[in-house]
Amino acid sequence: MVTDQRKELWFELEPEERQIMGALREFLQAEVAPTAQERDERGEFPFGIVKELGQMGVMGAQVPEQYGGAGLSTRSFARIIEEIAAIDGALALTVASHNSLCTGHLLLAGNEAQKQHYLPRLAQGEVLGAWGLTEPGSGSDAAAMRTRAEPTHEGWRLSGSKQFITQGSVGGIYVVNARTDPAPEGKKHLGLSAFIFETPIEGFSVGRKEKKLGLNASDTAQILFEGISLPPEALLGVRGQGFYDVMRVLEGGRIGIAAMAVGLGRAALEFAAKYALEREQFGQPIAEFQGVSFKLAEMATGLEAARLLYLKAADLKDAGRPFGMAAAQAKLLASEVGVRACDEAIQILGGYGYLKDYPVERYWRDARLTRIGEGTSEILKVIIAKNLLAQYR
Ligand SMILES: Cc1cc2nc3c(=O)[nH]c(=O)nc-3n(C[C@H](O)[C@H](O)[C@H](O)COP(=O)(O)OP(=O)(O)OC[C@H]3O[C@@H](n4cnc5c(N)ncnc54)[C@H](O)[C@@H]3O)c2cc1C
Repeated sequence: MVTDQRKELWFELEPEERQIMGALREFLQAEVAPTAQERDERGEFPFGIVKELGQMGVMGAQVPEQYGGAGLSTRSFARIIEEIAAIDGALALTVASHNSLCTGHLLLAGNEAQKQHYLPRLAQGEVLGAWGLTEPGSGSDAAAMRTRAEPTHEGWRLSGSKQFITQGSVGGIYVVNARTDPAPEGKKHLGLSAFIFETPIEGFSVGRKEKKLGLNASDTAQILFEGISLPPEALLGVRGQGFYDVMRVLEGGRIGIAAMAVGLGRAALEFAAKYALEREQFGQPIAEFQGVSFKLAEMATGLEAARLLYLKAADLKDAGRPFGMAAAQAKLLASEVGVRACDEAIQILGGYGYLKDYPVERYWRDARLTRIGEGTSEILKVIIAKNLLAQYR
């Protein structure tokens, strides 16, 4: 049943996109699924798998072919993230953040020289990209950041730190947002700029590597900048206007996180459905109890609605139309129903759902991040309400 629903959407992909997805699914089943649980337990970053995904075009999914990427649509990229998340949430976060944040910012705001210099290696997965916005003192209120880049005779001097950075300790190319100019009164979103550089570079170091609830095989670390000297060419986008690019990068990123939440929820649903058909209590499969089958029905319905919403946001982005509200709605719904599906899957497995022997507890731990990263559910409601009310003012 679930597979049939997916098939319908499957056929909406272009033939060559279907080919990539088919190859990806085979790779995920053969190379990723068997080790996902173990890598989670060990907190082991999958360098080899990421390299192979690079060769398949996945690490440069939306990078134009002229820069060595696969040149896929946002829709295809999001489906790729859903497929990966259905097997390994941590890997999905790695791929999503590499593509949407670091590479996404470069695609959005980079000049030709920057694109030619950085994109081919990012697209091939030779180097991992990291994107620094969050700081210890500024999360949702990103414009309150304290990292600074001061102009010097040679270019810029970058000082400060970033918190919770995906690929923070395994990245090679970093996009870092910093304050370059004082903010006019009441307009702290102005005066921010982005910089791109690669490591090793003097003054850059990795701080604490975070221990997390889930997504343990993804890398999350604090990164520190002690007066890094950057050339003028490191400026990414227009000086002082970086906040607008940050918002657009996040809007794109939310489509990927929505797809990740749907993928994790889908994996939980599939596992729970099969389990419910096999597990017998009171002389019958527990799937025959309405109390159990209704849970599955609600999980499937919520996930399908969330999938359609992220596909809508992706299609709007691909069409060059405003997609910020749709992306916020997609991530809000997908993360809420994704986490709930994982929680219900644990419930359907009963005590076994609580054990590490079964993957549903990992799905739940991994999915929980999707309600937080790239805009918490609360911040997304702020964005949606603002967009909504603007239509009635
Ligand atoms: C695993 C992981 C990976 C991450 N990867 C990256 C990365 O690669 N790059 C990066 O820059 N960041 C990254 N982040 C940071 C992430 O984006 C932030 O954690 C997130 O934006 C929330 O910020 P915060 O944690 O400081 O929470 P806060 O902003 O302090 O929020 C705390 C609570 O207050 C609520 N709140 C805040 N403001 C409002 C408001 N106006 N109205 C209502 N409620 C509000 C929030 O919704 C939340 O519930 C990552 C985080 C994690 C956990």
